[in-house]
Amino acid sequence: MAATANPFSVSVSSKPTGGSAFPKLNDSADFFLRVQNPLKSVSLRSSFVSRGSIELSLSRGGGSVTSAKRGARSARIRASLSQVMDQSVTKTDPIAPTTVDVDLGDRSYPIYIGSGLLDQPHLLQRHVHGKRVLVVTNDTVAPLYLNKVVEALTKGNPNVSVESVILPDGEKYKQMDTLMKIFDKAIESRLDRRCTFIALGGGVIGDMCGFAAASFLRGVNFIQIPTTVMAQVDSSVGGKTGINHRLGKNLIGAFYQPQCVLIDTDTLNTLPDRELASGLAEVIKYGLIRDAEFFEWQEKNMQALMARDPSALTYAIKRSCENKAEVVSLDEKESGLRATLNLGHTFGHAIETGFGYGQWLHGEAVAAGTVMAVDMSYRLGWIDDSIVKRARDILQQAKLPTTPPNTMTVEMFKSVMAVDKKVADGLLRLILLKGPLGNCVFTGDYDRKALDETLRAFCKS
Ligand code: NAD
Repeated sequence: MAATANPFSVSVSSKPTGGSAFPKLNDSADFFLRVQNPLKSVSLRSSFVSRGSIELSLSRGGGSVTSAKRGARSARIRASLSQVMDQSVTKTDPIAPTTVDVDLGDRSYPIYIGSGLLDQPHLLQRHVHGKRVLVVTNDTVAPLYLNKVVEALTKGNPNVSVESVILPDGEKYKQMDTLMKIFDKAIESRLDRRCTFIALGGGVIGDMCGFAAASFLRGVNFIQIPTTVMAQVDSSVGGKTGINHRLGKNLIGAFYQPQCVLIDTDTLNTLPDRELASGLAEVIKYGLIRDAEFFEWQEKNMQALMARDPSALTYAIKRSCENKAEVVSLDEKESGLRATLNLGHTFGHAIETGFGYGQWLHGEAVAAGTVMAVDMSYRLGWIDDSIVKRARDILQQAKLPTTPPNTMTVEMFKSVMAVDKKVADGLLRLILLKGPLGNCVFTGDYDRKALDETLRAFCKS
């Protein structure tokens, strides 16, 4: 372990120090880094790693763990100074963002999370390549945040020139004609390979702009500034980009990782309540499939999340991004593990298709689908009934639906699920919970009777 001379002193322990209020997540895996400087002492937590091999780096902002080993595999997970973890950070300096690293070798990138990050131009500017930037956004988000982003890009940086393209808002515009508008603007503006594309908006904009960045001149620099909970906890992380085809969702796309993801939690202040709740369905998912202690934290803090408590939101986004980052770093192209992030999505996708796109938001369909997947797991005898109840309760607390629309029939579910992307050799593979809370499997090896029973239990006909 490394340590430094003044002004900082550093120690590592298995317990938080200084009475920090952040939640303890995992007894066996967490360690706590205590950084003491002349102004104050703070505790930082890093999870998923053991105390086997730890490298520390220190800066004026505090300290960070830059590498640590977990078993045979080396992971780079950084815990940085955060307002979530320690509210006593000096008021005069801008608050350092919470940072989660996505570890993908030479395609690794940071996710910055925090309040007011769009007022910290250096965060964005350090990831811009070249002198030309194209901000891709839509006609809802542009009036709210485009000027702020342009200012963050240009403040103290007179050499950069920023173009923008404002697309119509909505999932129905996530298609080829709209994508062409991005290319039209880029080509008309004579952008070259050294330019940077920035996605400013929710998952629709992130997916489209990412795909445009992946394919314009065979790939240009790309930054995500997600502005919905859905995009901040899920879609902006992990490099899935793409557009819809009239015959199916997200059928055309590419894996393309950004240079960084900048999450300014203040942008959520303008998000409609329904969109906020929809994003929380994905937060709940992480708890159910792989992070029981995060789920327990959610059970205690759902009201705070619904009330947009900044500290609770930042914590939930950070924890979600850590979960997603770890899964993506282990299985970037979805050969198995990454599919577990789709808990409830197969049932949910059937609801979106059967009920009609745009009727229910994606997270709402996922919420009802999650209850169905949990019900089926119970019918298979893989989980106990307390998990069924807790899953339903937390989704209800988030004001999300826990049953499909009553127009959905067993046949509608079956016909859509038969063409799901997770069908292999005619076998529908599902993500189901198995074992104690926080464990799941991605499998086609289950009793078909349980699926039939679940569908019949949730559908009138
Ligand atoms: P969205 O992008 O349509 O945004 C929802 C609505 O909120 C839109 O009307 C948008 O204009 C508006 N909005 C965005 N930010 C706002 C803000 N700060 N204030 C006020 N309004 C704001 O939907 P979404 O839920 O963010 O994303 C859904 C999309 O994400 C789907 O297309 C889905 O396929 C995709 N997705 C992709 C991945 C991935 O890994 N790439 C994962 C999950 C979902």
